[in-house]
Formats: sequence, C-alpha cells, structure tokens
Amino acid sequence: MMEITAIPAFDDNYIWLITNEGDSGAYVVDPGDGKVVLSVLKEKQLKLTGILITHWHPDHTGGIKKLTSKYPCPVYGPNNKQIKEVTELMADGDKISVFGHEFEIIAVPGHTMDHISYFCADKDAPVLFCGDTLFVGGCGRLFEGTALQMYDSLGKLAALPPQTRAYCAHEYTLANLQFANAVEPDNTILQKLTEDVTEARSQGIATVPTTIAQELDTNPFLRSSVKAVIDAAAQHNPAMTSDKEAVFASLRQWKDTF
Ligand code: ZN
Ligand code: FE
Repeated sequence: MMEITAIPAFDDNYIWLITNEGDSGAYVVDPGDGKVVLSVLKEKQLKLTGILITHWHPDHTGGIKKLTSKYPCPVYGPNNKQIKEVTELMADGDKISVFGHEFEIIAVPGHTMDHISYFCADKDAPVLFCGDTLFVGGCGRLFEGTALQMYDSLGKLAALPPQTRAYCAHEYTLANLQFANAVEPDNTILQKLTEDVTEARSQGIATVPTTIAQELDTNPFLRSSVKAVIDAAAQHNPAMTSDKEAVFASLRQWKDTF
C-alpha cells in the first residue's frame, strides 16, 4: 500500500513523502529543502528512489541537488531550463510508475507556465499532487499565466473523481477560507469546514490533503458558475461580464488584494 506523509518545510510548505509498505525506497514531491528530507529519510531508514517536481519555483526545487548527490535517482519534472536537475522531462499525458502505481501528468499552466500535476487514478484511492495550482479553499497566484489558463487548468482538476485526495504544496487554508467566506457568507458547508480547519490549525494539524469533492463545495475558484459567487464577484468588479472565466478572473484579482 502506498502511503503519503507530509514533511513540513520553511513557513508553510509541504514536501510529500511517498512510501510503500515493506519497501525501503521513497519518493518525494517538490523538495524545496533537501536537509529536512534527508533527516526524515534517515529517521525512517529509507532511501530515495525518485523525485517529482511540479514547477520551477525554488521552494519546490531548492533541495534537489542535495538529495541527488546523496541518492542519484530520477528527477521527474517539467521541461524548463530553469530546473537543470530534472532528468525525466514530463509533458501532458505522460505516465510514470511510482511503486507500480501509474501517475499521469496533467499540464496545469497558470501559476507558472511550466506547472504540471501528477494524478494516480487508483480506483480505491485516487491521488493528486497539485503543487501550487489548487490549494484548500484557494488557488495559486498568477505569476506567469493568464486567468483563462488557470481557469482551464483548475477545470481539469475539478473534473477528476470527487474522492481524489489532493495534496497541495502549502498550508494556506485558513487565509483562503477567510476569503471564501467573504465571497460566500451563506455557504453552510464552508462554514462547517472553517470551524473544523480553525480547530485543526489551533492544534497544529495539517489541513492538507483535501478532496476534489470538498473543493467543489467550498472553493470559490471552482465555483465561478454558482450564483452567489457570481453576484459577489460582480459586486466587487461592476465591469465584470457573467461568463465563468470573467468571474474567475475577478475573484483572483479580488483575492490578490484581500
Ligand atoms: Zn510556486
Ligand atoms: Fe510554492
């Protein structure tokens, strides 16, 4: 059985560690910090068998060199000269095997142009590593792509099986839900989630992973066709047209200054 655990790094990053029962190998996703990964590997008596990268930002890639100098292993990632350490160039639709589980690459440009995610369609427990594209209650900032690109990328993730567990790369949930509540003050599922998340965070418990189902119910960036969301976005941006892409763009702009 594949097991996924968080290695917290920096202020709010999660580096995801993938292990397999009875196997001494391990994969990590987005090791921004090599040191914390090495100490966890040592503690758990594991050796690194592969690295998965979602995008070039240093908080996701900064630890690769340190790790591969100790454990020479394949580094899967997007085709981007800014990440010289990638050995296996991944593009939309490519497939890789992690402990015998097939992961498909889904290109999700927006936060950065090179951003990819890794989806395992495993029937009982589908899994997604979505980096800085989808967050619990939010989505990544548009550093390189357009709102339309991000809208399309999130649409691909929203269409995955609802029970898919989504492993985001940051703990941004509380701040995201503050914004979500400003957009949809009458969403009772969101209210309940906010209570649960506030409690979890007060005890230092991670709020990631989420599920696609939970995000469809609560994440304003996946809800730009919901009337309450359209109305709130229009109030904030009176010039907005009511098509979903425009609603999404207005929400993203609103969040940037929230
Ligand atoms: Zn990033
Ligand atoms: Fe990041």
